[in-house]
Amino acid sequence: MYLFIHRKDLRSRDLRAFEALKKRRMPGLHLVILDPALLQGRLTSHSGQAFLRQLAQLRNHYSEAGKTLHLLYGPPSDIVDHLLSRHPIAGIVVHADYTPYAQRRDESLLYTADRHGRPLVRIDDLSLASLKEFHAFSERSEPYKVFTPFYRKWSSYMEHYYSPSGDVSIRELETVRSIDEATASRFALPPDMTAALEAADGQAGLDPSSVLKRFTASGLSQYNERRDAFGKAGTSGLSRYLNLGALSARTVYEAVLGKPGSESWIRQLAWRDFYLYQAVYNADFFSYEKRYDLSPLTGRYFEAWSRGETGVPIIDAAMAQLNQTGELPNRLRMVAAMFLTKNLLCPFTLGEAYFRKQLADYDNTLNRGGWLWSSSLGYDAAPYFRIMNPTTQSAAHDPTGAYIRTWLPRFAHLSDREIHHPASHAIVDLKASRARAIEVYKGILGYNK
Ligand SMILES: Cc1cc2nc3c(=O)[nH]c(=O)nc-3n(C[C@H](O)[C@H](O)[C@H](O)COP(=O)(O)OP(=O)(O)OC[C@H]3O[C@@H](n4cnc5c(N)ncnc54)[C@H](O)[C@@H]3O)c2cc1C
Repeated sequence: MYLFIHRKDLRSRDLRAFEALKKRRMPGLHLVILDPALLQGRLTSHSGQAFLRQLAQLRNHYSEAGKTLHLLYGPPSDIVDHLLSRHPIAGIVVHADYTPYAQRRDESLLYTADRHGRPLVRIDDLSLASLKEFHAFSERSEPYKVFTPFYRKWSSYMEHYYSPSGDVSIRELETVRSIDEATASRFALPPDMTAALEAADGQAGLDPSSVLKRFTASGLSQYNERRDAFGKAGTSGLSRYLNLGALSARTVYEAVLGKPGSESWIRQLAWRDFYLYQAVYNADFFSYEKRYDLSPLTGRYFEAWSRGETGVPIIDAAMAQLNQTGELPNRLRMVAAMFLTKNLLCPFTLGEAYFRKQLADYDNTLNRGGWLWSSSLGYDAAPYFRIMNPTTQSAAHDPTGAYIRTWLPRFAHLSDREIHHPASHAIVDLKASRARAIEVYKGILGYNK
């Protein structure tokens, strides 16, 4: 038998691993490990809840197909060590993951597998273009640092070498029904997690395929015009499903290909690949805070920002939406992140960690990419002198102030013109703080040497 561990691929068809496993023609022990290192303190967060709902759906898909999905709780390498000692497992198969924690975890799994003399195979599945193949196709010794040339080459790769969705579903694989008593009881889910999972099972979450269908039928054609409007559902709302792997990037790509509006939407999928590519090929991606001296920045205003108490209406409205729902449109993520890192001179790492806690679609790589862009630190980031003005952004993308009125009812009485302007008690003056930020970031990035 083989061991397959689901991670960011909580679905039951179109997994690259399933195609490989079908060819092995042997039963498989299919497992999800609830990893304390990832779940600690996150069960009740928006992303923790989204994870539990998706996990409950996956378990249901397995049982509807007459298959078994095992759930265990504990450090992955301990669990795998136990299973390898007690079951005739010929090898382990997982999908590759590129974050620092995932790399450490997988190194430790590799070590455990090695000790037992079994292979661990990591298959690429997360990105749309195979990152290794794309890198070879680009024939570059240095990775792409700028999105536009990356995108041009990426588009050419997709045209010639894209490998379409697979159609193997869990129905076509044979799963192992039971695992040994000692492992099952030692790594059983703690009662609070079992209860949380049962509760999530009871909440009818949206079916990811219907979200995709609705978007391709009615949102896609106007995506480019409507994507930046605050508060209106002008985008797909698919990020959480992509990040949990409830839908593969291939499925969403193929669903829109050739349809009106698809080009601009696919470009966003390319941004997703650009950040995944950087997680693999940009050695600094997860450590910019060590590369630059961020000591001129402080957390002085962080609390006020996170609570939505800055006195700048669009920022406070955005933080109210984020805190209450776990959702925030992309442009408002950029505006709020720039405001924190530039106008409030706060290290991006504080905002990044806060979004980790709050976002329903939290993803370590894309979140880092967004924060690096906003704070002018990553590849192809916003130039240090580009600082979005919250008042101008608000007036441009929410002209009637409807978004602010929804999230900050205390401002509802203000006129459409007044509503965008900072209150008299705002914690910073936009103009002065912008000028200061430009000077400080010039220093951080070494432009004034
Ligand atoms: C500071 C900051 C933090 C962010 N944190 C996250 C995060 O934790 N998780 C996350 O999924 N996205 C993050 N993003 C990217 C982006 O905001 C979301 O992917 C997008 O808002 C999700 O909504 P949607 O699915 O309706 O997107 P759509 O506009 O419908 O786009 C389709 C898909 O393309 C990808 N995409 C869209 N915009 C971007 C982008 N700017 N960068 C990379 N991929 C993109 C996503 O996978 C998205 O689901 C962040 C952006 C910023 C500026």
